[in-house]
Amino acid sequence: MELLIKLLLLFLTALKTTQGSDSCNEVKHGHGYPYLHEASSFSQAEEEGFDYIIVGGGTSGCPLAATLSRNYSVLVLERGGSPYGNPNISHMQNFHIGLSDTSPSAPSQPFISTDGVINTRARVLGGGTCINAGFYTRASQRYVKTVGWDAKLVNESYPWVEQRIVHWPEVAPWQAALRDGLLEAGVAPFNGYTYNHLYGTKIGGIIFDKDGFRHTAADLLAAGNNDNLKVLLHATVERIIFERRGRRRRPTAVGVEFKDNSGKRHRALLNGGRQSEVILSAGAIGSPQLLQLSGVGPRKELKKLGIPVVIDNLHVGKGMADNPLNSIFMPTKKPVRQSLIQTVGITHPGVFIEASSGFSQSPNSIKCHHGIMSAEIGQLSTIPPGQRSLEAVQKYKREIKKNLPKEAFQGGFILEKISGPLSHGGLRLVNGDVHTPPVVTFNYFSHPEDLQRCVYGVRSIERVVQTKRFADLTVNDAYTMEALLNMSVQANVNLIPKHTNDTASVEQFCRDTVTTIWHYHGGCHIGKVVDGEYRVIGAARLRVVDGSTFNKSPGTNPQATVMMMGRYMGVKILRKRLGRAAGV
Ligand code: FAD
Repeated sequence: MELLIKLLLLFLTALKTTQGSDSCNEVKHGHGYPYLHEASSFSQAEEEGFDYIIVGGGTSGCPLAATLSRNYSVLVLERGGSPYGNPNISHMQNFHIGLSDTSPSAPSQPFISTDGVINTRARVLGGGTCINAGFYTRASQRYVKTVGWDAKLVNESYPWVEQRIVHWPEVAPWQAALRDGLLEAGVAPFNGYTYNHLYGTKIGGIIFDKDGFRHTAADLLAAGNNDNLKVLLHATVERIIFERRGRRRRPTAVGVEFKDNSGKRHRALLNGGRQSEVILSAGAIGSPQLLQLSGVGPRKELKKLGIPVVIDNLHVGKGMADNPLNSIFMPTKKPVRQSLIQTVGITHPGVFIEASSGFSQSPNSIKCHHGIMSAEIGQLSTIPPGQRSLEAVQKYKREIKKNLPKEAFQGGFILEKISGPLSHGGLRLVNGDVHTPPVVTFNYFSHPEDLQRCVYGVRSIERVVQTKRFADLTVNDAYTMEALLNMSVQANVNLIPKHTNDTASVEQFCRDTVTTIWHYHGGCHIGKVVDGEYRVIGAARLRVVDGSTFNKSPGTNPQATVMMMGRYMGVKILRKRLGRAAGV
């Protein structure tokens, strides 16, 4: 009998970890991958030095490491833990629960830009691909040309990623409604299932398989050479180590300093090879932050913080942008099935229409705060402006939200976002400690053209919600646009004070309800911080390969291109060093 009870308990525990967590904050780790090690196991004395040290095992870092490890020794240093065994990462239905986990070691690290928009950074092996909405779609051919990439190699690198981790979605009802609504509203033609960036309406790829199980950039490491690949988890890089070499005494990267989970400092060094390199793939915030912490950045700002200047470069951390997102919540007659992005409408003015649904209906998720994906009615807007803070959101979650009727959470969102915003901001260090998040500003809608495009986007959504397809789904046979805007103002989660004319002026609605779709980029632009080969200008043996190098976010959503870029640069480096012998 006792054995039976034990087996039953074991079964229930297993069920719980595969079906998702029953609290907002549950995280479990576990892995069986030969290249993964805890940072605390690192011993410099035992290591001979590496051909490549990659900082950040994220969206671009993993495919880059896998590719380089075919021929060279590669060390990846990732500040987060393993994604394996964490149901909040693995299961699509836990997307919002993962984002709401704000514990200090959680895979999602929240931050609030000075604009008052709640945002997040990945902190886990696999980076953004472990916490994102999973939509996979390539950049346009024009984008590839503008960046100056080799189109043939780009077209070989995307499929390398796709064969390993990308799937076609089984189109969810809310996504099918958006597809039909977009076509009825004139966002045509229908381009079917495609990864390509084509004007009109399409269904893209996703990194969830048919069981809703997430595949991430961390899975791409399996394509590497285990004998050459070492990945350290919970290894937070604090600075790049430079030596001045050659006649011109050029700053040359020779390794990095990192801390393990227990706070112990280590040094990882490159080997003596003339072409060995440190490559930063720490993401749009992590890479410019680390360059500045290492003394590469605006002299004045670094000196103020007591950071010794290695290379004076005004542009590090500058020119950052985030694609602004505004969304409309639509209550529905019946509960709608959960869905993340599968359908997209691509319009000529560079406004993209997407949707998500059903992320607030389970009794568990009602207790959690999950940003734009929740159908939260009243929230910060019910609180006087001076008192709007993250703590107020938490209080709302604890004391009010759980008592609201379930029907208030029934429905879906239609989102519009603009690509390539002309409004730019930047990043500023607070001190010399890598653990202190930098201050980030995006200046959403400071450029009038961005605001005009947002208005175009909201008007496009209006056309979609007025189609017969949506009228049939929604309560009262379709709300007026004004009622929907009103509801969306109330449901909106940012710290920007709301105005009474939000629904009378679409411009005001755009400004007040702006949120993020987490496509922030820039900070290490080509031609300003890195050259065309992604080498840091003024330094030797140092590159940056990630979204911080983008002037504009690629495609409707960037992850496909960030992963492609990791593979692309890996192959380029191998071919440069080995010629045909590279075999890639
Ligand atoms: P990351 O993937 O974030 O990689 C950076 C890595 O470096 C992280 O793992 C980080 O922990 C590590 N790191 C940083 N600093 C250090 C340090 N000092 N030492 C060691 N390690 C460090 N894109 C899409 O295409 N489709 C979507 O549906 C989509 N939805 C999204 C939803 C969310 C919630 C988020 C956050 C993003 C979404 N995106 C989506 C965007 C996309 O996921 C990101 O643009 C992309 O993953 C960023 O890649 P990256 O390489 O620049 O950074």
